[in-house]
Amino acid sequence: MAPTQRKVLHRGRAAAGVRALLRAACLLGIAASGAAPISATAAELRLPDGIVTHADGRLPLQQLAASWLRLVDAGWQLDLIAESKPPGTTTALPIVALRSPTPGAAVWILTGIHGEEPAGPNAVAAAIDDLAALGDTLPVVLLPLLNPHGYARNWRYLDLPTFSDTADGHSVGDSSHLLPDPAEPGRPRAGAASSPEADAVTRYVVRTSAAYPPLISIDLHEDDLVTAGYVYSQGELGTSDPLAQAAVAVLREHGIAIQLDGQTRFGETIVGGIIGPVTDSSIDELIGATSILVDGRAQAGPSAHTVLVFETPAKELPLDRRVAAHLTLLRRLAGLLAARPEL
Ligand SMILES: [Zn+2]
Repeated sequence: MAPTQRKVLHRGRAAAGVRALLRAACLLGIAASGAAPISATAAELRLPDGIVTHADGRLPLQQLAASWLRLVDAGWQLDLIAESKPPGTTTALPIVALRSPTPGAAVWILTGIHGEEPAGPNAVAAAIDDLAALGDTLPVVLLPLLNPHGYARNWRYLDLPTFSDTADGHSVGDSSHLLPDPAEPGRPRAGAASSPEADAVTRYVVRTSAAYPPLISIDLHEDDLVTAGYVYSQGELGTSDPLAQAAVAVLREHGIAIQLDGQTRFGETIVGGIIGPVTDSSIDELIGATSILVDGRAQAGPSAHTVLVFETPAKELPLDRRVAAHLTLLRRLAGLLAARPEL
């Protein structure tokens, strides 16, 4: 459903396993604990029994996890970011990341922040071999399902099923506690993370950015309130970013409607299907930030050059077509990046 994290800024200001998915969680890097990430093997990744995934045609969680294991087989490292057990749930599900074997300036790919937007996680599963190949050429960090409980139960947030104008749901990507308040840059927008998951995910981003600094970040979302999509470009070049422009062209070539001009319903100006940098306290803003506040101290941010957030239209489009659009996008971007990593 609609706006990615457009409401998060206000939310952040206001208040800011897969049971042993990991049977041997002790062998994994647990970012929340501050331990250094350690790779796991396929045999150590298993989901808890009895997890049922929302039945709208999306892949079951178990199939998503099986796809990620192909990267482990290809030599990628698996990190456990957190075990997510939001209020009202009874089983912990892991939030994981996968890193290609060679560190360095990296392509980061994120999806599944909003649980009612399954196209991105399903497309990542379908594109896993393409991503493995990209990892042979460039360092890649993949966060393939950032809100696993949301995905399983079709809930947008950790604590609320849908977007609301009147209630502030907790987004797993809320970065308000690390981002400077525009009105008072020496202070963060929120005094603490809005959830244990947001705390763990943002700490993972900051820590992993040291060895895998994000050069380009791609975050896959959907918007089920619109029939035409758009792209946020949060990096240095904003609406002029050639990768954003290439992505818009790919989507249009494949029959995905894009709103080329005018404004979003949040009053943001659209130029050629692209919206320039916005202040929304999202994980995307964090990844592009040049300065952040960690435990109250200022430090350099991840400073990604290009930060793209895709909002493809979900209204009136069946899931298979939405997945196909994201898959096409991933494959084209992977091809462009492998051929011209300076993009
Ligand atoms: Zn979203």
